[in-house]
Amino acid sequence: MSATKILIVGGGYVGLYTALTLKKKAGNHVDITIVDRRPYMTYQPFLPEAAAGSIEPRHAVVPLRREMSGVRVLQGKVTSIRHGSREVDVASDFGDEWTLGYDEIVIALGSVARTLPIPGLAEFGIGFKYVEEAINLRNRVLGRLARAASTQDPLLRRRLLTFVFVGGGFAGVEAFAETEDMARAALRYYPELTPEDLRFVMVEMMPRILPEMGEEMGDYTLKELRERGMEVFLETKLESCVDGHIELSNGEKFEADTLVWTAGVKPSPVLAASDLPLGPKGHVICSPTLQVTDEEGTVVEGAWAAGDCAQVPDLTKEQPAYCAPSAQHAVRQARHLGKNLADHLAGRALADYKHKHLGLVASLGLNKGVADVMGVKLRGWPAWFMHRTYHMSQIPTVNRKARVIVDWTTALFFRRDLVSMGRIHEPRRAFKEAADS
Ligand SMILES: Cc1cc2nc3c(=O)[nH]c(=O)nc-3n(C[C@H](O)[C@H](O)[C@H](O)COP(=O)(O)OP(=O)(O)OC[C@H]3O[C@@H](n4cnc5c(N)ncnc54)[C@H](O)[C@@H]3O)c2cc1C
Repeated sequence: MSATKILIVGGGYVGLYTALTLKKKAGNHVDITIVDRRPYMTYQPFLPEAAAGSIEPRHAVVPLRREMSGVRVLQGKVTSIRHGSREVDVASDFGDEWTLGYDEIVIALGSVARTLPIPGLAEFGIGFKYVEEAINLRNRVLGRLARAASTQDPLLRRRLLTFVFVGGGFAGVEAFAETEDMARAALRYYPELTPEDLRFVMVEMMPRILPEMGEEMGDYTLKELRERGMEVFLETKLESCVDGHIELSNGEKFEADTLVWTAGVKPSPVLAASDLPLGPKGHVICSPTLQVTDEEGTVVEGAWAAGDCAQVPDLTKEQPAYCAPSAQHAVRQARHLGKNLADHLAGRALADYKHKHLGLVASLGLNKGVADVMGVKLRGWPAWFMHRTYHMSQIPTVNRKARVIVDWTTALFFRRDLVSMGRIHEPRRAFKEAADS
């Protein structure tokens, strides 16, 4: 009997862990192909530390080809899914196009930044979901310090040193706090600048930040950030940011040179170009067995989904609810999906996915953090230590664990590396100048 052709679209948490589990459980009975735009899985919880220089950005990603022997990896963008004819269209960044066939598909496309039609946002803002964005943010912040230190123009200096983050959820708060911590640490190398020159502004529409951690921890974090001199505007919207001229709904107007958009995520827009049944917010509808279903709950044969792009019932809640987008659910759902798919192929019964969210740990800079795990609330250094220990246990592969430990240990003895590599974004410049002269 020939092996069942499994196509996994998306090579993040769900893609990686589903492929590994399936390979283990179904062995030679499956022929797996995984498609992702990037050749690596991004361990997103480490992006704030990568942006802050505590972790080498390369170590926050897991190379797919290296970790998935026996799995075909195709680097390209999925542009449409036609499940009726079991076909997926893929386009590479270099103009190649493929149509892939399959027997079973796993939808693991994750989410994208949820933006709004705010004037200037698409041209001026940057997201915070991928390693390239973390690298850019780090180089950008350090580069702005260097430029500000050398200008005599006070208005330009103010603009260069004003950093705006929109969205006070979990990822936004971590990125905001870690980046400020790095900028403050870097000031020691710029005697021309003072801590008062730095302006870090967070804009949040809701009356509190960190809603994922509850009121008490959100209030603690707000206080901690404000004590550090960071500005947090609650119940405030970004109205415009054309060319860095920031206008807020509370009447504040100022110039900034950096705007990071961390105001939530929405399911991959590719799903809208598919014939799969979608829920009201654009997620693929799933049963607790992680099979795709229609609105009435009838299973769509041959289609599975999990993670940020899927609407998975949360069976731990008394009222009907769906699992929140989180790495915790994505990893567990992926392992569950891999096992269920292997059982399905072997004709065995499927099990329902049920996992109670254990809580969250967040880093707010070196030695600072906040945690709420199974009702245990921690602040400051203990929370930060728990954050590091937890993520060390979670980042896939011994290889990545070892590299991150080396990064942390080196930073402990020699301080983190705060060199600005802004020129990395224009690598041909020096050569072109030489050629032109
Ligand atoms: C900064 C940050 C910090 C976070 N910290 C935490 C945390 O501490 N704890 C926690 O539980 N959660 C955290 N999360 C959330 C967590 O990372 C996500 O919930 C998790 O990554 C979801 O996994 P996924 O596999 O569904 O999606 P992803 O891991 O995002 O994977 C989706 C994959 O699909 C690929 N892809 C997308 N579109 C296409 C396409 N058209 N064609 C081909 N490939 C495509 C992407 O390149 C990506 O590799 C954090 C998120 C961010 C951004």
